[in-house]
Amino acid sequence: MTTTATTTSANGPFDVVLFDSDHTLFDFDGSKAISFARVVESAGGTDPAALLPVFSDVERPLWAALERGELNHLELNYARWAGLLDAAGLDADPAACADSYLDSLGRTGGLFPDARPLLDALHGKVRLALVTNGISRVMHTRLDHFEWAQYFETVVVSSELGVAKPSAAFFDAAFEGLDQPDRSRTIIVGDSLTSDMAGGRGYGITTCWFNPQQAPQPEGIDHMVHTLPEVAAVVLGA
Ligand SMILES: [Mg+2]
Repeated sequence: MTTTATTTSANGPFDVVLFDSDHTLFDFDGSKAISFARVVESAGGTDPAALLPVFSDVERPLWAALERGELNHLELNYARWAGLLDAAGLDADPAACADSYLDSLGRTGGLFPDARPLLDALHGKVRLALVTNGISRVMHTRLDHFEWAQYFETVVVSSELGVAKPSAAFFDAAFEGLDQPDRSRTIIVGDSLTSDMAGGRGYGITTCWFNPQQAPQPEGIDHMVHTLPEVAAVVLGA
């Protein structure tokens, strides 16, 4: 990051923040663990906790394929349940499991404890958008159920567009929803290097990596934070 007497594009204050949802503002792991256990038990599984890592292994390459545009969210959802049931030797209908899983994901888990205070601190000062590679049905249920839609001027969900972060077409949709803000005064905050950071960098906006695991900072990231309260200072240039 360059330090000069004047404000650079990488330093705040910013006018617009694009927030990732899962693992950034929203405790997706909590939602996933509860929802996964419910579905596995309904499929006749007796040890959901032991199967959760298997499920993660099954879905990881599917999400990577989705980021590459090789499959859509509904295909991903079906494929991960077909893969899990197969790996676990469970005789249940993958389509039914996939459907109940989406239903539960929207209603379980919750915002991280620091997320709402951060949104409250920024709301009204900065324009906020939610940009997620999530599934439309899950995201809209979740926004209603946990009452946080009011923070965002626009909510961009990849499954509604057919393109996902890091694609420029995804960011085009976000910028359209925000009436084409100045890229030099826009920042993306997210936990994913491959979707949020790579996408933001490719689109020419400032990047802020939410890195609660405190992994080493790679090249090409403008800002890195370990906690959500730090985001406010980065965004407001404090
Ligand atoms: Mg994320």
